[in-house]
Amino acid sequence: MQHISLRILIEDVQVAINRQADNGISPKELHSYTKYNTWDTILSWINSIASSNPSLVSKQVIGNTFEGRPMTLLKLGKSSGTTKPSIFLDCGIHAREWISPAFCQWFVKEALETYGSDSQMTSLLDQMDVYVLPVINIDGYEYSHTTNRMWRKTRSKLSGSSCLGADPNRNFDAGWCTVGASSNPCSETFCGSTPESEIEVKHVADFIRKNKSSIKAYLTIHSYSQLLLFPYSYSYNLAADHSELMSVAQGASAALTSLYGTRYTSGPGASTIYLAAGGSDDWAYDLGVKYSYTFELRDTGYHGFLLPESQIKPTCEETMLAVKYIAAHVVFSQQCFSGCLIDLAQYSHLITSYFFDTVQDKG
Ligand SMILES: [Zn+2]
Repeated sequence: MQHISLRILIEDVQVAINRQADNGISPKELHSYTKYNTWDTILSWINSIASSNPSLVSKQVIGNTFEGRPMTLLKLGKSSGTTKPSIFLDCGIHAREWISPAFCQWFVKEALETYGSDSQMTSLLDQMDVYVLPVINIDGYEYSHTTNRMWRKTRSKLSGSSCLGADPNRNFDAGWCTVGASSNPCSETFCGSTPESEIEVKHVADFIRKNKSSIKAYLTIHSYSQLLLFPYSYSYNLAADHSELMSVAQGASAALTSLYGTRYTSGPGASTIYLAAGGSDDWAYDLGVKYSYTFELRDTGYHGFLLPESQIKPTCEETMLAVKYIAAHVVFSQQCFSGCLIDLAQYSHLITSYFFDTVQDKG
């Protein structure tokens, strides 16, 4: 009798510990915003968050990965009869950068929790839609969980090579494979056999092309280095919108730093880190998506890709401030039609002061 009751007690305690220790040990299938969830857990979360918030969230599969996993895109925003301007946010293009998908999940949570109470989030979702692709490179992400924690590329097979995968952020059709990329399939920065040879890249590019008249901003989340980058990376040439992009990036970085003091560097990819062709931000910008930014989240190399789960919450909190800052600028730019006399680059300083007033109001 005692033996039986002891077994039941252990099982109860174990479940209780799993649920309390949100950064500690818990069953893989239990979703947590402060843990690095597996793809299966993220997919169940996507399905459940969409079905429990039908007035603000819808989902669609934009295609399958090389290994057949569904690339599920969430659309956040208050329903309206017409097509709203939108922001496209993606995470997990590089498999081992686990903080990135964690941020996309955090963004969705924050959007749903603060819509109706936070004025910035409410006006964002009233006036625009935000497309969130929580993981682009799902096959690589899964492989980094099961087999090789440091995997970066996709998992596609190329005939004639024993090496698998290409670098999806060298596979977009933007100066493709000219600089900072390799044509060797065994390289970590293999550009692929052709532009968009990676099916995951093609699905994202097809979706953005199809919706390019509505998509006003493209945000892509990587780690690590604490950078906020914008075009160009395939060339040292400055983007036509350089001064506005720089001004918004500096405001967004300042907003991020205001929370925990985390320092970011802003600038064009080529001069800030290195020349690299085939990146998604350059491609989106050349397609006509003006506000195109690449985030490189924490840290600066101490933990690198292996950022401890205890840093998920502060990293996501500070990154939210930068993303909301950029979004506020995009919302404003949509209200400023062709007759608008305000220089948007100058205006971003006004948004900065408005933004910090708001942050202070919230304590
Ligand atoms: Zn990356």
